Amino acid sequence: MKLGIFKLGERAFRGVVEEDRIYPLEGKGFYDVRELQILPPVRPGKIVALALNYRAHAAEMKKPLPPEPLIFLKPSTSVIGHGDDILLPSMSQRVDYEGELGVVMGKRARGVSQEEALDYVMGYTCFNDVTARDLQSKDGLFTRAKGFDTFAVLGPWIETHLDPFSLDIRTYLNGQVVQEGNTSNLIFDVPALVNFVSCIMTLEPGDIIATGTPPGVGPLSPGDKVEVEIKGIGKLTNPVAVRGW
Ligand code: MG
Repeated sequence: MKLGIFKLGERAFRGVVEEDRIYPLEGKGFYDVRELQILPPVRPGKIVALALNYRAHAAEMKKPLPPEPLIFLKPSTSVIGHGDDILLPSMSQRVDYEGELGVVMGKRARGVSQEEALDYVMGYTCFNDVTARDLQSKDGLFTRAKGFDTFAVLGPWIETHLDPFSLDIRTYLNGQVVQEGNTSNLIFDVPALVNFVSCIMTLEPGDIIATGTPPGVGPLSPGDKVEVEIKGIGKLTNPVAVRGW
């Protein structure tokens, strides 16, 4: 089932997606998705992201394969949804897209085993881990490079019934495919990540694990349209603009 949060006028509501129709969870009838604004399907308390989790991306970044998952955090204030502008800050001269599978936690998870891990997952969404690449190299730490407002793009909704082990993932820049991967090429798969992270910090319902990006990362420019598509979920589309502050 695809679950999202939608807005019509001033009213926000949860709904189930069936093709182009949105059925409100409370109430009758349905809307055409084109009538509605699509909001982020979840407001995560935290986003735990993987630095290198595809061999081919590690190779393009000229980094050795990590012996264990390498994680960083993105702030909840960086979240935007489908259709919202990704804003390029003047502090960076190079901001990249990173299309990823986002894991949405459904239950509080602490010290969860790999065998039980998927019981704690609510579903999956498309994620764009927008990154100020120049600041990532300059700082060594990731907080600034990954933490700007609008740098955690998620949506358009959550698919609750999906096998996370072999999902095609594609990123398009202005309609051209720029990244192509499959989650079967993850170095650490979803159960391994839930296990690893939940042995460090408690994962709360709504928290996101961004599972890392396949190869093909590249820069965004004002006026671009970037899309992250995962088979079985949908396509997350965002325009790119210059930040006005
Ligand atoms: Mg990433």
